[in-house]
Amino acid sequence: MSMNSVGRQTTPQGSATDSAPSTATGNRALMLKEPLIFESGAYDRTGVDIPDAPEVKSRLGGLERDTVIGLPGLAEGETVRHYTRLSRQNYAIDLGLFPLGSCTMKHNPRLNEKVARMPGFADIHPLQPIHSVQGALRVIHELGEWLKKLTNMPAVSMSPKAGAHGELCGVLAIRSALEARGDAREVILVPTSAHGTNPATAAFAGYKVEDIPATEEGRVDLEALKARLGPDVAGVMITNPNTCGLFERDMKAISDAVHEAGGFVYCDGANFNAIVGRVRPGDLGVDAMHINLHKTFSTPHGGGGPGSGPVVFSEALAPFAPLPFVEEGDDGLLHIIEEETAQEHHDQSFGRMVAFHGQMGMFTRALTYMLSHGADGLRQVAEDAVLNANYVLRAMEDLIDAPFAGAGPCMHEALFSDDNFAEGFSTLDLAKGLIDEGFHPMTVFFPLVVHGAMLVEPTETESKAALDQFILAFRAVAERAIAGDESLKSAPHHAPLKRLDETQAARKPVLVWSDPEPQAEAAE
Ligand SMILES: *Cc1c(COP(=O)(O)O)cnc(C)c1O
Repeated sequence: MSMNSVGRQTTPQGSATDSAPSTATGNRALMLKEPLIFESGAYDRTGVDIPDAPEVKSRLGGLERDTVIGLPGLAEGETVRHYTRLSRQNYAIDLGLFPLGSCTMKHNPRLNEKVARMPGFADIHPLQPIHSVQGALRVIHELGEWLKKLTNMPAVSMSPKAGAHGELCGVLAIRSALEARGDAREVILVPTSAHGTNPATAAFAGYKVEDIPATEEGRVDLEALKARLGPDVAGVMITNPNTCGLFERDMKAISDAVHEAGGFVYCDGANFNAIVGRVRPGDLGVDAMHINLHKTFSTPHGGGGPGSGPVVFSEALAPFAPLPFVEEGDDGLLHIIEEETAQEHHDQSFGRMVAFHGQMGMFTRALTYMLSHGADGLRQVAEDAVLNANYVLRAMEDLIDAPFAGAGPCMHEALFSDDNFAEGFSTLDLAKGLIDEGFHPMTVFFPLVVHGAMLVEPTETESKAALDQFILAFRAVAERAIAGDESLKSAPHHAPLKRLDETQAARKPVLVWSDPEPQAEAAE
């Protein structure tokens, strides 16, 4: 089987709209076309030279493998090149702006990586004697103290491993608190603009989920919320700032109303980047909130990289927080509390979220980020993130629809819609056009409350020059969508792969490679 014939099947050549002639190899300048490793490696080759294994009497009773295992064989050099070429086809935060709204994709200072790799943090084991891991426990404890201070909340659980995991932690604490007072409530209210994980978490924890409508302005409808509150409502889950990029100004009134009706307030803190150092959720009556360390406090997390979602708790929920946790003893040492005790907090713990303490590598990165910024620097994070998002909003609003721009400044992200695109053109076309311009697209078709939504979050780590470049590209592609430029419908033209059927890819992913020409190979 020739590599070229297979390569052509998996990597379509340039479309008809490409003006550049095709090349004999399919490579484009120094960007090399890369087949799958299964297509380039042969099964009967190996990259190492070891003697044949001696004959042994099989004890597998006839169950031993009698066919080849099917792993491709490549020499080390070939393997290195294969993965390096693949990595060059990837887009990363270290290559350019990543304007994914709601994701907070910011530069991750190298200092974070250096500290996370220190052997005292990277090479330890959770079952080591505690006297030998005091430094690591100190990091967990100190980070927890920062989080409590930044949120003005009395307790924190460090162990949840992502934002959604933190949501579950918070909702389980709410359920335990209600059970402890013998109050069986069944409903959790979630705004229509909520991140998908919110209703999913509430349902997973056994609650019925009901929507709360948004106002024209894109905020929670306080009156509708109040009207729905009652003895069956366990709580609300509200993202603040919300997924329309707006601050929920009525948050305190919402909390007061929910508390008065006997419920709890869960705040989705994934957007904390916009308010860190400026607003303390504890002052707004929040009972539990997760913080995405991997968003607000840097760390690259695209493509499912490591996350960490510590949860802060109010006095009312603190006793129910999960185990284990780290506590400073009178002896000045840090101890791991594994069981419910008569501690001030956690004395009616609902159990565990994970076996040990959570994501150590994320803790060291987050604390490094905090300490290197300092209190004033963290406040500036929020200010610059909001400034950058408003810069994008005001640079675009004359050209494309910006549904809530009239409501005043946005927070950390700017929301647009495809309302004034030409007939037949949508957000998807704009996103694909941006790829040709060298930018990862923004979050598209979310939040659902806006038609053809485009959610742009530049973060504070982009310079004005970088934002100006992005705006140049964004405007140019938007103009083509508004004018109905047909060539945009087949973008991207310059990417290794053209327009894919994303629905098919998500619904029916082909996860196992099968040899397209097994007969031909057998005959060779
Ligand atoms: C990212 C995000 C989440 C989920 O966090 P994960 O760490 O991806 O589980 C929840 N809510 C909002 C608003 C988010 O942006």
